[in-house]
Formats: sequence, C-alpha cells, structure tokens
Amino acid sequence: MTRPMRKVPVIARAAAVGGLAAAVAARRARAHPLQAVSLVALAAAAGWSMFAPRSPGFGRVPWRGPRAGTRMALTFDDGPSASTPAILDALAAHGAHATFFVLGRQARAFPDVIARMHAEGHQVANHGDDHGILAFRGPAHVRRQLATCEDAVARAAGPGAMSRLFRAPHGFRGPATAAAARSAGYRTVAWTHGVFDSDEPGVDVIVQRCNDVLYPGCILLLHDADGWCPDRPRPQTAQAVPRVLAEASRRGLDLVTLDELLEPST
Ligand SMILES: [Zn+2]
Repeated sequence: MTRPMRKVPVIARAAAVGGLAAAVAARRARAHPLQAVSLVALAAAAGWSMFAPRSPGFGRVPWRGPRAGTRMALTFDDGPSASTPAILDALAAHGAHATFFVLGRQARAFPDVIARMHAEGHQVANHGDDHGILAFRGPAHVRRQLATCEDAVARAAGPGAMSRLFRAPHGFRGPATAAAARSAGYRTVAWTHGVFDSDEPGVDVIVQRCNDVLYPGCILLLHDADGWCPDRPRPQTAQAVPRVLAEASRRGLDLVTLDELLEPST
C-alpha cells in the first residue's frame, strides 16, 4: 500500500488546482468573461464537493436520520484503541448501540475489541485501512483500502462482521471515492454534527457539546482513537460517553446503529 495522503498535502494540492483555475480565468476574463466565470464556478463547486462532507457533488451521502420519532445514532471513527472497551462498557450499561467506523490498521491491533463490538450488536463499518485521504485517489486505491480493512474485520470477528457502510477519512471525497465504494458494495455516509472531541478540549466540554445536539435523527460523530497516531487512545471521549448516554436516556432518545436509523430511506 502506498503512503497515506495526509490532510495538509491534500489541501495544498486542492489550493494549487484552484489557483491554476483562477489564473487561467483571470487571463481569459477580458476576452471571454463568461468562460472565466464558468471556470471559477466549476473550481468552487469541485472544492465544495470534495471538502464538504455532506455535499452531494460526488455522490449523495446520508447525513441525518428522520426527525420524527426518538432514534439517533452515535458514531465513533478511527478505532478501535485502548479507549474503546470503556465505551463499549458504557453502551452496554445503557442498552445502547453505536456504529464504529474502524480502520483496518486498528482492527489488526485490537482484534478482540472488534469481535466484542460485533458480538454486542454494534455496527462495524469501514473507514479505510490507514486513514489516508482518498479525495485524490483512483478507484483501485479506494477499493484496496476498503478490502484491506474488511479483511482485518473478518479475521477478527468472522466473515460478514463488516457492515456495508463506509465513511471517508475527514469526509473528503473525490470523483472516484463514492463510486469505488459503491462498486465494492458500500454505501458512503456522513454525519450531522461533530463535536471536535479529537481536539481534546476536556471531558466537560465534550459532554456539553454533545448534549447540545442530542435530538432525533442526529448522527453524532465522535472518535475512539486518533486516525494519525495509531497508539493514541481517546480517554476524554471515553469518559464523556457515559454522561452523554445518561442525558440521551433522560431525554427519551433511543441510540441505535446507523443501519437502524437510516432504515426508512434504504
Ligand atoms: Zn477518521
């Protein structure tokens, strides 16, 4: 597998393409103003499609469930890590289920945790193998990332343990990303709210930010590991989760897997 593409080089590459489009547009502005405007609009649309996780530009992605009813979904990206068992304990104590967008790299390091997730009725979903950003990658690379992660989950928890949901690292997608995922049998999904728990702002802040967005239909994005540092756990998130679950239960919310939340639209 080639080296994972990280956030800064991806943004730099996108900025370079955008800058080139702007330069060409500026040169053509006097003679062909309409062409210049179209070029700038096209570049802006491509950037929005690539970096806005909910944008339908490169394929429609579900990012929330039905507002009616009492269901919402907790999702955890980048794991598992040493923090994940405590999160599973809290979910079990509240009779709640969640969806874990796992990395193949982490599944190989924590196979027992993957097996436990699956055995306890949580949804194991695909986040790629090494967290490399896929926006500028071709279909073969995307399929390889998905297959390697799927293989790690199958080895840990048996064939069929991996669900058919995929979330791109950082939600960044290019023209090939969703199409390649679809051809591998995956549905690409986004989220309603992130609370930036990965910035580690403190347990109280994470709890408060989560409590602000607990409502039916919400898909809440949390992190049970660090996508870029394989050995780094997420203790603040793990400590926040029991308090968030208690508040969700006080409000009468049912925490379900993404498949259950999105059921009516599938
Ligand atoms: Zn991630």
